[in-house]
Amino acid sequence: MIVSSAFSGKRFAVLGLARSGQASVEALLAGGADVTVWDAREEPRAAYEGRCQIADPLTIDLTGFAGVVVSPGVPLNRHPIAAHAASFGVPVIGDIELFAQARADLPTHRVVGITGTNGKSTTTMLVHHICHAAGLEARLGGNIGLPILGQEPLPAGGVYVLELSSYQIDLTQSLDCDVAALINLSPDHLDRYEGFAGYAAAKARLFQMQGPRNDAVFGCGDEHTLAIARETSARHDVGYVHVVQPDALEGQGAWPSLQGPHNLQNAAIAVEIAQHLGIAEGVWRPALASFVGLPHRMERVAEADGVLFVNDSKATNAASTAPALGAYPRIHWILGGLPKSDNLDECAPYFGNVVAAYTIGEAGPMFADILDPLMPVTRSEMMCDAVRQAMDASQPGDVVMLSPACASFDQFRDFEARGDSFRQIVEALIEDRESPCPPGTGK
Ligand code: ADP
Repeated sequence: MIVSSAFSGKRFAVLGLARSGQASVEALLAGGADVTVWDAREEPRAAYEGRCQIADPLTIDLTGFAGVVVSPGVPLNRHPIAAHAASFGVPVIGDIELFAQARADLPTHRVVGITGTNGKSTTTMLVHHICHAAGLEARLGGNIGLPILGQEPLPAGGVYVLELSSYQIDLTQSLDCDVAALINLSPDHLDRYEGFAGYAAAKARLFQMQGPRNDAVFGCGDEHTLAIARETSARHDVGYVHVVQPDALEGQGAWPSLQGPHNLQNAAIAVEIAQHLGIAEGVWRPALASFVGLPHRMERVAEADGVLFVNDSKATNAASTAPALGAYPRIHWILGGLPKSDNLDECAPYFGNVVAAYTIGEAGPMFADILDPLMPVTRSEMMCDAVRQAMDASQPGDVVMLSPACASFDQFRDFEARGDSFRQIVEALIEDRESPCPPGTGK
């Protein structure tokens, strides 16, 4: 656990006792803080009986508190805790801010903070992987992995690699990242912000917290990201703001888990970060090739008879499916689920790569109607039929890909369950094909 004298003798309230809330309470107690805890459910509260005060911070006098710690899931724009804490001049913070405050007590280390609308997890994992390849000790934290405060501190020279959502940045005031990166920016989470400008401003704060001689890295794929890069250039010293050019990075063909234009962007950001950590090309280049990638994000689940099977179940809207379709030249595309929009416009530039489409779920009929005039479409309805039909139609060199452009909740619990189902069906069908025919079946 990360323990710091920065908390000693201070009062904090922790609202919400799920995983990161619990890690915050433990780190604060171990650091000598006086902690008040609350959760809407009785059971997690009861676990702190005798070690903390138990009270809803919304109902108590917060005079003298150093902060109210909330989970990023709390919508600060609507939740009354924001106004209540503000009326006492108390900041509402998250576990990343506590980590930032604890840093002074940690052995010398560096922090990498990665944000963006898409590609955060992939880029964070990739930077972590490159650090390991370079022999650096590294820890994952933030949106990905375990709560950072619950982990063992790194020995001197280590690198904390944090995936930061805009909500987490909203709850952080003093995280000065040695290297901070913004991959891209497109409209998202607009229920939590005052329009797109509010969302972009949240991301921009990651760089406003940096010292002028720490590195700021930006993707070049959209105007909003470039605007924040320009704004950051005005604050940082010359030479510390870097806009990456993915097209200049050669060799993508040798990185099986980083296919597609979006992953070239992610790789370019990761390489830029690695270089600012002092990692040489002789180390990062082989690491791009050995990166395994995350499940459900263009995950290569099997290869049989020259056909590759790719699980991109995490692509829950047309914008994230589009680059997946750009990744391979001959795709049998399984799509559908619970629709988030009534078109596939973002995917249209890549339709030339689709050999045939197989529609499933609630959005199936609508997508089939859109695609019918453009390509062969099979109205499969169920995942198992779609995989079987795609497999039967595919030739060596083809790719069978689940990239649904839809949420999963019509037929599956979540995108993970949907991706797992795809994988299991693929594996079962391959095994079926490969198993020798039982005598007399004529199979
Ligand atoms: P995040 O953590 O930001 O949600 P992930 O790395 O988990 O991002 O990727 C989620 C999905 O977004 C992937 O399935 C992929 O289709 C898409 N994606 C990944 N990287 C990018 C990118 N740089 N630009 C656009 N889409 C991307």
